[in-house]
Amino acid sequence: MDYQSTRNKNLRASSTAAVLQGLASDGGLFVAGAPADFDWRAVLKLDTFAMAEAVLSALLPDFEDMHGLVQRAYTGKFETDELTPLVQVGSRYVLELFRGPTSAFKDVALSMLPQLITAARRQEGVTDEILILTATSGDTGKAALAGFRDVPGTRIIVFYPDEGVSKVQKAQMVTQEGGNVCVCAVRGNFDDTQTGVKAIFSAGVPEGCGMRLSSANSINIGRLAPQVVYYFKAYAELLRAGRIPLGDRVDYVVPTGNFGDILAGYLAKRMGLPVGRLVCASNRNDVLTDFLRTGVYDRRRPFYKTLSPSMDILVSSNLERLLYFLCENEAEVAGYMADLKEKGVYTVSPALLEKLHEQFGWGCCDDEGTKAAIGRVWRENGYLMDTHTAVAWSVAEGYESDAPVVVLSTASPYKFPAAVLSAIGGDADGDEFDIMDRLHAMTGVPVPKALAELRQKPVLHRDVISREEMQAYVLGKL
Ligand SMILES: *Cc1c(COP(=O)(O)O)cnc(C)c1O
Repeated sequence: MDYQSTRNKNLRASSTAAVLQGLASDGGLFVAGAPADFDWRAVLKLDTFAMAEAVLSALLPDFEDMHGLVQRAYTGKFETDELTPLVQVGSRYVLELFRGPTSAFKDVALSMLPQLITAARRQEGVTDEILILTATSGDTGKAALAGFRDVPGTRIIVFYPDEGVSKVQKAQMVTQEGGNVCVCAVRGNFDDTQTGVKAIFSAGVPEGCGMRLSSANSINIGRLAPQVVYYFKAYAELLRAGRIPLGDRVDYVVPTGNFGDILAGYLAKRMGLPVGRLVCASNRNDVLTDFLRTGVYDRRRPFYKTLSPSMDILVSSNLERLLYFLCENEAEVAGYMADLKEKGVYTVSPALLEKLHEQFGWGCCDDEGTKAAIGRVWRENGYLMDTHTAVAWSVAEGYESDAPVVVLSTASPYKFPAAVLSAIGGDADGDEFDIMDRLHAMTGVPVPKALAELRQKPVLHRDVISREEMQAYVLGKL
């Protein structure tokens, strides 16, 4: 199974090469056909680690020792060997993806990605060091730093928007230890930061510098593939608990930013998993809601900072993969992307829109609705959720379905303690770490250990630059 660019079917790569490169050389994303002969029913009977091995081997078939890679990625790193527990909350289910080392769902993928990248480097006979460049809206950065820290043969530079992350998120990043890590703030919002990183990828690093670039963002297929696993895992849990017979559909509601998480659900569906509707939940930055409803993707709109900063995005990179899967026409995708770049807007064909409507749902929720959902679920169900999860929950409440509904929960409430505490009626003034303590006192929900310890950690990274300086900054680090 070869990967190819979404914009040119002649730009092909093995799965190991695709993981190493991150982005195709024409700016497209790597995609592949659905794996042939994948026995999804058999996979549902496996434990989480074996399930991960089976799903990843099917999606990334060129990796030689997937068993060993999965073991090294996950053993002892998460609060539970289940990795992503499913919890019933009222009449719905919450899939907790935040039980990893940095308390955000990005850990599921970013624990695995360093294993994939170093294995790919070895298999491809690459002697250059791999330089991971990442733009983060808050959670990817820390999860990537934790994943790549001191991994031989790799270095990592994380750029985050100076004003775009929470205090806890920032503290997580600027205290990061490790001999191969670098963290830098960029003035502007996430889109500015992501655009800057994309420009560095286009320009490349000088030949012969002993480095090559790769990405830990979800444009890398090695980031997406591990996320496919938990869609199977949630389904298997419902089956095991007798909530559904084998073959019944399950709907998933996904708090969405860069469209990676929800696209992983689509990949699971293509592998045979009975996924009903995939519901894309957005915050006030509702470009995806409008797009899914109308077929017009229009990024020419204000950018809002919300209580769910990891979803504050106007250009969702992974949507390009979905467009490709739905039309399987590289020229059509390349056309949409050219329009987006040149005009800031594109309109998909009626045929494509119809396919979107068959499989996807959509909805958005502003900050007030987010807080109201956190308060309501806490009062009615005694379950504490973070702001991103609450966006999805709120959208799920407004969405009718006969199928069981799984809401993906993407962060610990303690990553956004001020918003969560005020949503349940607490006093959220003052220092964010004091707020964490008060949230714990009020709810009894345990504070993840790594977050509690942040307070004592020294700040190790203080650089702040403008977007224009990003390229020179990277070259200076080589
Ligand atoms: C990254 C992130 C999201 C959005 O996921 P995408 O794959 O970018 O759509 C949602 N919630 C949290 C907490 C995140 O960190």
